[in-house]
This record gives sequence, C-alpha cells and structure tokens, in this order.
Amino acid sequence: MIEVEKIKKYFSAGIFSRKYVRAVDGISFRIERGETLGLVGESGCGKTTVGRLILRLIEPSGGKIFFGNEKIDILKLSKKKLRKLRPKMQIIFQDPDSSLNPRIRIGDSIAEPLLLHKIVSKTEIEEKVSELIEMVGLNPEHVNRYPHELSGGQNQRVVIARILAIKPEFIVADEPTSSLDVNVQAQMLSLLKKVRENIGLTCLFISHDLEVIKVMTDKIAVMYLGKLVEVGRTGDIFNRAEHPYTQALLSAIPVPDPDAKSGRIAIGGEIPTQISPPSGCRFHTRCLYSRQICETEEPAVATIGDGHQVACHLK
Ligand code: ADP
Ligand code: MG
Repeated sequence: MIEVEKIKKYFSAGIFSRKYVRAVDGISFRIERGETLGLVGESGCGKTTVGRLILRLIEPSGGKIFFGNEKIDILKLSKKKLRKLRPKMQIIFQDPDSSLNPRIRIGDSIAEPLLLHKIVSKTEIEEKVSELIEMVGLNPEHVNRYPHELSGGQNQRVVIARILAIKPEFIVADEPTSSLDVNVQAQMLSLLKKVRENIGLTCLFISHDLEVIKVMTDKIAVMYLGKLVEVGRTGDIFNRAEHPYTQALLSAIPVPDPDAKSGRIAIGGEIPTQISPPSGCRFHTRCLYSRQICETEEPAVATIGDGHQVACHLK
C-alpha cells in the first residue's frame, strides 16, 4: 500500500543559518494493505515529519513514495491529481482541537467531507451524520455544539467520524491519544481499532509510547535521529529486540509490579542535534556497546529474520 524509498527532509536551521536540520535522513519501509505499522522514537527524532511527507503535506528533500497497487508516485503527482487522491489518504493529529474548525458546529463538520466528496446527497445527509455520530460514541445532542463545548476526547471522536465518512484507504495517526486523559486514551484506542477493521484501513501509527504501539500495531519501525534503526513484527520487537536503542526504549516501559526488577537500561547523555548528527552510527554517543567502528562507519541494514531488520555493527 505504501512504499517509502530513502526519503529525506532537511529543514533550514534558521533564516540566518546556512545549516540544515536533518529531520528525516534517508529512510525506507513498506506498509502492506490492511497492516498497521507503528513508528516509535523519542520526541524530535522525525516521526511527524515522516507522516507529513507520506501524505505530501510537506515536500521532501529526496527519495520516493509509492501508493497503492498501481504504485502511484506521490511525489510526481500534479496538484490536481494529488487533490483527487486526498480522500484516500487522511491524517489524525495529536491535538483534535487544531484539526476542527472552531466556528463550525460538530454536525456540519462531519457533513462537510460527505458533501465535498459527494459521498451522500443533501437529502440523506442528516441521517448519515446521525449514523456516524452514533458509531463513534457521541450523543445526538452534540450535533449542534461547537468544538470548544466538547472535551478533547469528544473532539477526537468527531475527527474519527470524519475519517469514517470519507472511508480513506490509508491514514497517518500521529500520537492520536497523547493529548487525552489516560482513561479516555484506552477508549479511543479501541474505537480506532474498530474503525480500522470496519473500513479495512492501512495505517501508519505514530507514538513515542511503546505500550500504545504494542496494542495497536502489526509491525514496528524504530526511529533515532532521522534514521530507522530496527524494523520488525510487533511480537519480535517486544521479544527479540536486537538494536541497543530499541532494547533501551523497551526497558524504560514502567513495570506494573513494584517488586519486580525493572531492568531499565539507561540511555546516557543528551539527544544529539540533527544539525550535526554524530558520525558513523548516530546512536554511538549514547550506546553502552559502542566500539571504534561505530564512531566511523554507518551500519548497513541487515535482515536477521522474517521481516526483521536492524542497522547495528554488533549484529
Ligand atoms: P517528532 O514527531 O518525532 O517529535 P518532528 O518530525 O516533529 O519529530 O521533528 C523532527 C525535527 O525536525 C525536530 O528537530 C524539529 O525541530 C525539526 N522540525 C520539524 N518541523 C520543522 C520545520 N517546519 N522547520 C524547521 N525544523 C523543523
Ligand atoms: Mg511528532
């Protein structure tokens, strides 16, 4: 469904600077139809930028992105053709308030894509909106309210109702539950799962939270400073993580039993800057196992199992 080849995005480091922030620095991955790929990594590593590049909300500095069976080259599409593809590819942002128009009532907000993409006629619109409102667990009385009159969780349900209305083939969910209360998060994740099954969605699910990633994904891609360090099936990543960075991220998940040893592997040092990232393996400045070669040579991506890939000199 999605094939990303050596995609890059360099941002200018500032108007008075000739330097670049290498937010995404040559990463490749595939997402099969119906599959959910989790993209995980510390804040600032480039996850959001990857999501926005795939939907071509920003233009890349290099690389290729293909969509669907026909392998549509997204980066070569004209504005007009891109507009036609838009309903098939949607995004859910972290902050639902910023994706809803504050001056448009909830009901109209859900009706808008249905009318815009001519999915239903004017006469059927009311019924369709009620149906969607119910599907996402909102009340009929919410239809006449404005976004500020609803909670963050309720607004995220409105965003999901709009997604259901359009029935996209692919969505990027960028930390869709991070701004919500913990108790609302779980409800939202199960709603997202239901929606995904209901319309057979393919999904790139972005989160810094490995526990959320664990329940939501089929495969995981681990990102560090603009590069992928490990990709594998969710079960393999949790049981047999190979990259020292993945192992450290996993060990940082809180252990529910207070008597159990946490076995936490500390990641030393500050996150280096993406303006002048470390030479060789970018993780070497914080890696417990770093050797000479890690400082000078960038590790190649090695396949170590079925669909399990790792970029590390020690493997
Ligand atoms: P994440 O989603 O993993 O937290 P982002 O993709 O938002 O990371 O950002 C990656 C890096 O790119 C960060 O260093 C961020 O400051 C930088 N960045 C993101 N967007 C821009 C932009 N529009 N201009 C300049 N730098 C940006
Ligand atoms: Mg982000």
